[in-house]
Amino acid sequence: MEEMSPEIEHLISLQRTDREIQRLQLEIAELPKRVAVIEEKLAGTKAGLEKARATIKTDEAARRKYETAITDLRGKISKYRDQSLDVKTNEQYKALLHEIQFAEQEISANEDKILELMVNAEVREKQVKAAEAELKEETAEIEKEKVIARERTAQDEKELTEWNAKRDTARAAVDPDLLRHYDRVLKFRGSGIAEVLDHKCTGCSVKLRPQTFNEVRSGKMIYCDSCQRILYYDPSKEAPVGEAEKTARRRHHPKIDASHAWYYRGDYPDHGEVFLSFSNADGSASRRIYDAASGRRLGDMLIREGAYRQGFPEDLNDSIRLNGNWTDADQDEWGDELPTHVLDVLQRDLDLARAEAAAHHAKETVTAPSSVAS
Ligand SMILES: [Zn+2]
Repeated sequence: MEEMSPEIEHLISLQRTDREIQRLQLEIAELPKRVAVIEEKLAGTKAGLEKARATIKTDEAARRKYETAITDLRGKISKYRDQSLDVKTNEQYKALLHEIQFAEQEISANEDKILELMVNAEVREKQVKAAEAELKEETAEIEKEKVIARERTAQDEKELTEWNAKRDTARAAVDPDLLRHYDRVLKFRGSGIAEVLDHKCTGCSVKLRPQTFNEVRSGKMIYCDSCQRILYYDPSKEAPVGEAEKTARRRHHPKIDASHAWYYRGDYPDHGEVFLSFSNADGSASRRIYDAASGRRLGDMLIREGAYRQGFPEDLNDSIRLNGNWTDADQDEWGDELPTHVLDVLQRDLDLARAEAAAHHAKETVTAPSSVAS
């Protein structure tokens, strides 16, 4: 079996480091945004609390004003009563009586206002208590998020330093002209090197001419005619006849009726290479999608009626079934990203599944060459 050229191996590891560096930089940039969102929420709660507290103060001042007014009015009434003992005429007496009645009405109006304020005060107290509880919760949350963000950033930065060192090593090992070409294509297309699978460039999906394919396979440095990516062929995935059974025996085959199932798709709409996880439970099926290279989760979990084969038939087109026995609880725990060991298991199983398919294909080629038309 032919080996890949060291130059290609350096480029592949350069691509891996470039991707990882990009992912880490993106993550580092995203982390403060999460904290900022909660901080904004916190500021809103604080403002609400301040407002509720200010209203309580205003209401208390108003209440004191009404109470003072009532005291004054009572004073007036007792003064009128004293005066009424000394009046000489009936007219004067009537006038005083009228003043007393008027003052009593005023007292009653002020008492109504006080009662209204008391009812409002109960509502406002509840609002303040709720806002205080919310504030406490959000403050705790933000502290937690800040710690997470700080730790994650520190970890990311440490990893970034390591990856940058790996990147420098990989770059130093590649011919400068080739490196310039790689950088240029990377800049415009997001990647500079692409594997050839099924006679196609995996970067742009264009099929190679047989001559080009043979040159790539022989280890020559060839650029894709259509996308200019540097092409490589991994001979280890080409399982020759005879190794087919070995490969098949090595790989554990997933059960067809399992309630949890993992799949790979190379051309998932809008995403490209993904791992799909399905789970059947209680007459419905759930689906999660992860980026096959980084392991990041794409979108939210989706639930549909019926088992996953009935619920998500369109996802299973051109898919490769993989081994994987993680529970829903495991996946909930992972959150937005597959743990590295899980990603490794899936990628390794995918390689094995492909090798198995290639071996199967090779075997068919030998027994029935006319049937091969890929
Ligand atoms: Zn291409």
